[in-house]
Amino acid sequence: MKQEVLRLEKKKKDIAEEDPFIDSRRVSDNASPDTDVVEQIGHARAKALESQINRKLIQVKKALTRIKIGKYGLCEKCGRMIDTDRLMIMPETTICIKCEKKKGR
Ligand SMILES: [Zn+2]
Repeated sequence: MKQEVLRLEKKKKDIAEEDPFIDSRRVSDNASPDTDVVEQIGHARAKALESQINRKLIQVKKALTRIKIGKYGLCEKCGRMIDTDRLMIMPETTICIKCEKKKGR
């Protein structure tokens, strides 16, 4: 799971580099409106991907903390064992399916 953190952090960096808005030295004067649109889309996509990765990173780090305190695999809401099939699919999860469903409502 630690590798997952490294992988996500690297991905985040890659996305940040792809974000056209990151280049502050960009000269907007000679950019055509078309280029602007493309950059806007690229920026929005980079932002969306980044927040998605950030959310996942937080979740994975939380799961790592649970491992450290010996509570991994136990639901942080109700304290019951999380279904192993669920853990297999989503190793970063910290709540059981029942609490997840409750949360969704
Ligand atoms: Zn639960």
